[in-house]
Amino acid sequence: MNMESRLAQIGSQSDPDTGAVSFPIYNATAFRHPKLGQSTGFDYARTKSPTRAVLEAAAADLESGDAGFACSTGMAALQIIFAMFSQGDHLLVSLDLYGGTYRLLEKIMSRFGVTASYVDTNDLDALESQRTPNTKAVLIETPTNPLMMITDLAKVSAWAKQKGLITIVDNTLLTPYLQRPLELGADIVIHSATKYLGGHNDVLAGLIVTKGQELSAQIGFLHNSIGAVLGAQDSWLLMRGMKTLALRMERHQYNATRVAEWLQTHPSVLQVYYPGLPSHPGYEVQKSQSSGNTGIFSFKMKDARTIEPILRHIKLIAFAESLGGVESLMTYPAVQTHADIPLEIRERVGVDDRLLRFSVGIEHIDDIIADLKQAIEAAERENNG
Ligand SMILES: *Cc1c(COP(=O)(O)O)cnc(C)c1O
Repeated sequence: MNMESRLAQIGSQSDPDTGAVSFPIYNATAFRHPKLGQSTGFDYARTKSPTRAVLEAAAADLESGDAGFACSTGMAALQIIFAMFSQGDHLLVSLDLYGGTYRLLEKIMSRFGVTASYVDTNDLDALESQRTPNTKAVLIETPTNPLMMITDLAKVSAWAKQKGLITIVDNTLLTPYLQRPLELGADIVIHSATKYLGGHNDVLAGLIVTKGQELSAQIGFLHNSIGAVLGAQDSWLLMRGMKTLALRMERHQYNATRVAEWLQTHPSVLQVYYPGLPSHPGYEVQKSQSSGNTGIFSFKMKDARTIEPILRHIKLIAFAESLGGVESLMTYPAVQTHADIPLEIRERVGVDDRLLRFSVGIEHIDDIIADLKQAIEAAERENNG
């Protein structure tokens, strides 16, 4: 069945007893055993819970994986994955990385002896030069956030397999509707489902999808043992959001493309970073491995002094720190999402004080552009006056 149909139907045929079209929220944490040595399949909700199980099956199906695991947040999902590694293990990680992932690796995992090198994951020579005998995995974001760098997933997964490394892909920005890394050779996909999958800026959640029996069992063990699982209410809320994912992503990418094109010709803008524009260096690879583009992009103003007034003057667009919801949000990565990444690394990749990240919502395109236009004009007036 096509992705749109599978999304709209999440959970709608999973309750044969009542025929409920929206799968019920099972709050129970304990489940009665019929007799000694027997189970209904549910024992204790941390291990397995009915509402969460429907979400997890949908996640595995959408990402073409073997098992899905719903976690309390995207960071919890990453922590569970990192718990696969042991003291002395080393990871190769995208250079332009979500700030929270960098913080988890550098401030926490490093204390347990798990280290990471940050490289352009699309560059096999760079990966090979940073690889050590203790390297166990590659963690890829594509597109990266905020600079939208693209990694060729089939190429890097094949290289990793050959070297005996696990390929982990953070697929938050594209979602399985647009890109399915496991079909391109990756082993594990993670999501901050807080973003596009939930889609309404109202639920925190993370997802892991694994390929292969061994990895699925290993992650299943860690998910239950660590306990950062998603509750029944939030599992339901996430499924409710996911039903409209296809429609939302179509509008998000349409709006993002239009705003990016408009900004690209704006005299106050230095550069627009959006893989949906043919001028983007990753345009061709992105096109070959996904069926569309994300709704988020970044742009660099020519003058850093315009940033503060732009953030003060936007009205429809909220100055807020997230992405992927129906509402348009503008983020200032250097002081918000990426503040934990050292200045030296940030500047090496280009996350400087002129860069804004824009999660384009599903409002009418004319209203979004009009709001941005008046904010940039007001900022220019203040700076010139
Ligand atoms: C937000 C985000 C995360 C972290 O997810 P939370 O749900 O906020 O814990 C991880 N990766 C990416 C790419 C993100 O955007």
